[in-house]
Amino acid sequence: MRPGARVRLDRCDPDDTSAVHGSKRRAEGECDRLAGRLKHLQELLYADHRRSILIVLTAIDAGGKDGTIQHVFEGVNPQGVSVAHFRVPTADEAAHDFLWRIHPHTPGKGEIAIFNRSHYEDVFVPRVERLVPRHVWHHRYRMINEFERTLVLEGTTVLKFFLHISEDEQKARLRERLNDPTKHWKFSAADVPTRRLWPEYQAAFEEMLPRTSTRWAPWYLVPANKKWFRDWVVSTVLVETLEAMDLRWPPLPAAWKGVEIR
Ligand code: AMP
Ligand code: MG
Repeated sequence: MRPGARVRLDRCDPDDTSAVHGSKRRAEGECDRLAGRLKHLQELLYADHRRSILIVLTAIDAGGKDGTIQHVFEGVNPQGVSVAHFRVPTADEAAHDFLWRIHPHTPGKGEIAIFNRSHYEDVFVPRVERLVPRHVWHHRYRMINEFERTLVLEGTTVLKFFLHISEDEQKARLRERLNDPTKHWKFSAADVPTRRLWPEYQAAFEEMLPRTSTRWAPWYLVPANKKWFRDWVVSTVLVETLEAMDLRWPPLPAAWKGVEIR
């Protein structure tokens, strides 16, 4: 998303797969190739130890955050990759500024950190649930932009994906959680009331996306009804980002050249 560009989510088709010419088989083959590249590039990022990547996943409930993490990172060495899942703030977290709990989970040099929910919850949950007055969450757009700018200037590439699903798709996925015994654990009592707030959430996303899509950390708006397409988009962006980083295997230090191991 271009910085500041307005978006109407109801005009963005969540079923759109035209970027991969609509072919599921083609996307899946491509994903296998990308997984191989990602495995290699992640090791190189770790060895190079100069840069890091932060992946931020945002979506409404059942939007596919967990599935994306599971599929895109299949086969990657878990060393050097971390996942932080941000839930309802604890009493201690709620007693601090909203970035307090976020910052310790940002990636160190050589690492990839994945945020399953993030600091973005703090601009739309309080707004939609009317937890605090507008001026409290409204300041946060600016703070988020500055926070992400700090990370970027210090060597972190920030990739933000907004997974866009339709109301019908959400309904189908929540129903599945109720019907499939292996998915009961995913169902949360909070999913029912949030579903009623669908229009409020969409309006909050529509304001948040242009305000926080910046030159240094733009949003990717991902049509996410089709899981294979969503995974292909995220894998492609991640691999292309890593390829463009000019990562190098560190050379052997001069002092160790010619050293014999006996
Ligand atoms: P899940 O990701 O499905 O395990 O659910 C986590 C829950 O935590 C969701 O209902 C989120 O809306 C909620 N949550 C996450 N961050 C915040 C926040 N900063 N303020 C309020 N609720 C939050
Ligand atoms: Mg949930």
